Formats: sequence, C-alpha cells, structure tokens
Amino acid sequence: VYLGIDIGGTRIKAALVDASGAVARSHVVASPLSLAEFRCAIAELLKATAADASVAGVGIGCKGIIRASDTLVESLPGTMDYLEGQTLADFVAPFAPVRADNDARAALAGELMFGAGRGMRDVLMLTLGTGVGGAIAQAGVLVRGHSGVAGHAGHITVEPGGAKCICGNRGCLETRFSAKALELEAIGAVLRGCDSLLRQRHQANPLAITCADVVNCAREGDAVARAIWEQGVSYLIDALAGLLHVVDPELVILGGQIAAAGEMLFEPLRREVPLRTMRMLKRAVPIVPAQVGDGSGVVGAASLVMYSKGA
Ligand SMILES: [Zn+2]
Repeated sequence: VYLGIDIGGTRIKAALVDASGAVARSHVVASPLSLAEFRCAIAELLKATAADASVAGVGIGCKGIIRASDTLVESLPGTMDYLEGQTLADFVAPFAPVRADNDARAALAGELMFGAGRGMRDVLMLTLGTGVGGAIAQAGVLVRGHSGVAGHAGHITVEPGGAKCICGNRGCLETRFSAKALELEAIGAVLRGCDSLLRQRHQANPLAITCADVVNCAREGDAVARAIWEQGVSYLIDALAGLLHVVDPELVILGGQIAAAGEMLFEPLRREVPLRTMRMLKRAVPIVPAQVGDGSGVVGAASLVMYSKGA
C-alpha cells in the first residue's frame, strides 16, 4: 500500500491507498496555523493511518509550488505560508520514498492511474474549485516547466486589463470563472438589488452565497444566476480554445466543485470549443469530468509515487 497525504487550506487528509486505487484507511485533521502544530498534525495522521502498515511510498499533494526533486515548498501563499522553505519529506520520515507536488498535478496523476485518463499520455486537466488549478501530461510525463509552474491554467489571461489576480497578472481565468469569482458576481448582483432568486434567498446575508447556490439558481432558470454562469463559462471556453492549441491533448479532464454542475458546464464546452479548434486539431477533443471521486486528493497524492514508479 501507499500513503497519500492531501494538504489543503482547510484540512489535511491522509489515507492508505492500494495499487488498485482503493482507499483503505483514512484520517482527517484541520489545517494547522503554525509549523509546530503542523508537525503534530502529521504525526497524528501517520499514527492513525500508517503506523502498522507496510508502506511502499508516500505521495503528498499540496497547494502552491513544490520542488519535485526534493519536496521543498517553494511558494505557498495564504494561511499555511509557514511551510515555505520546509521539505515535506522531513515531516514523514522515516517513510520513503516520498514524492510531493502541486495538488492539481496530483489530481492529474490520480486520473492517469485510476480515472478518466487511464492509458493516455497527453492529457490536460483543470481543477475548477475555489481557485482554478491545472496540470499537463505530455508523452506520459507530468510537465513542470523551468520553475515548476507549468500547467497553472487558472492564470491564463481571459480578460485583458481585467481584475488583479493573486498571481500578479490581470484578468486571469481564476478571476472570472472559479467558485470564488462566481460567488463575488452573485454577491454583487444581490447588493446592487438585481431582482432574482439569488436576492430572494440571500438578501439577509449575501456574503454567505456559495458557488452551489449560483449553480442551483441558474438551473432553476433564474435570469441573473444564468447570466453569471454563462458569462463565466464563456471565459472557460476562451481559455480552453487557446490551451488546446498550445497543449494539443488527447483528452481534457475537468475536476473540482464547479465540474459537479454536470451538463450545464459540459454541454456548452462540447458545443463551442470544437468550433474554435477543429480547423487545426482536426477532431473534437473530448472534455470529460474527473472520475476519481471521493478521496481524489489522497488517491491523487498516492498516485504521484505510483505514477513515478510506472506502477
Ligand atoms: Zn492569476
């Protein structure tokens, strides 16, 4: 069995994952706010999952930029920035080998091993969550680029001169089509007083509007929610049309909470993206939802070590 650890902004999950991708034993803790608490949290996770197991390797998926060669956390903005400069493998010693990478690359490794990308070598994946992550496999290798940043599709420009993004760029996909972007649009519409289901339901506390609320109101036919959704999807269409020409994948996989919107997302993508890409690519590149469901974070993390072993 392999140990997968998924380090997120709100929680850290660890699980034993077998060679078929099944999760055997898992444990979750809240994401700590200091390095000392982080050490204790990892110790607790190891004790709860791997103490008496024969672990063949550890995979760690983490937000930010992780140097794959030695698992050093190079950049991790936000509440866990105390991990910057730390080597993740040190926290799980004596377990070895340890592979660590950005969480979107871990998600793609999971899809290549056990999900929609099985048997494929050229795959583009976007994780549409609070932010937008991305990863690219080319010729069966997870592409990292010169600085480890390659694949960050959330920071492709879709609105020239648009809003400032956390990355320093302006008008990134993440500023226009992420859970946070959709929520901000909806909150703005309610505060402006636009007559809509969103306003009827959330006038008392518009700041509590979630991405799922926007999707549900759009699905129920609310014109304001639909407009927000369709605008966002049009930015994703822009991004994918450009990315397909750059990456030329055999498959596009979309994961994250926004992908749970289902056909409301995939139908317009499958209709519009080929119109813009067929001429050069000569085919409609399939755009499909991620298949590794519950536990995709830990399964993806464990897949980092399995995939690198060619298992
Ligand atoms: Zn950006």
